Amino acid sequence: MKSMVQELTEERTAVAELGKRMLEQELTKGTGGNISAQSGDHVAISPSGIPYDEITPEDVPIVDLHGEQVTGEPAPSSEFRMHTDVLRERSEVGGVVHTHSPYASTFASLGEPVPASHYLIAFVGDQVPVAPYETYGTAELAETALETLGEEYNACLLENHGVLAVGESVEAAFEVALMTEYCARIHYQAISVGEPNILPDQEIDTLLDRFADYGQDH
Ligand code: 13P
Ligand code: ZN
Repeated sequence: MKSMVQELTEERTAVAELGKRMLEQELTKGTGGNISAQSGDHVAISPSGIPYDEITPEDVPIVDLHGEQVTGEPAPSSEFRMHTDVLRERSEVGGVVHTHSPYASTFASLGEPVPASHYLIAFVGDQVPVAPYETYGTAELAETALETLGEEYNACLLENHGVLAVGESVEAAFEVALMTEYCARIHYQAISVGEPNILPDQEIDTLLDRFADYGQDH
């Protein structure tokens, strides 16, 4: 009989499906980026270097919160530390999405944060900050990303690389990754034709309060 740990069926299915959506939504190219979903002490995380359209739920590896692999082949994402460090340190976070989305990566390559030129920045915080460059897949990258997110940001840019987004669930993290790319695109367009207005901190606080009961469930 398989143990619960080996299964994580829901989380592995979500990781496999969101990988395909990451390509569809043009948040990455090739095998770039990675996705994880936590369940208790375990994490379903996308496998390293396998094309998203080939990943089935059974191909999604499971690691513990220290990145030790629990299942056999294939190997987990080379960025597993970036995922498990955040999941360990931010108790409210249950999912992590790393993308190479093009507009956000443009600001990442400039080493410039995305400021509050569109109200949807509140999905992330008062800006999308930038984590200083470190080589992909290293403990140093995981450390600098975690430090840049701190307790308050739901995403950061990874200098010369891409985006790290977090959420209460992997679906929420995916939404944050989409909003990060959208805000980066709007900011890019706005500075291409003029000088955007930047929303004040006080308005970001108002937005965060309103987001708390946005939609149907309240
Ligand atoms: P993996 O295929 O190992 O997840 O790496 C992709 C990536 O984006 C590295 O930063
Ligand atoms: Zn990457």
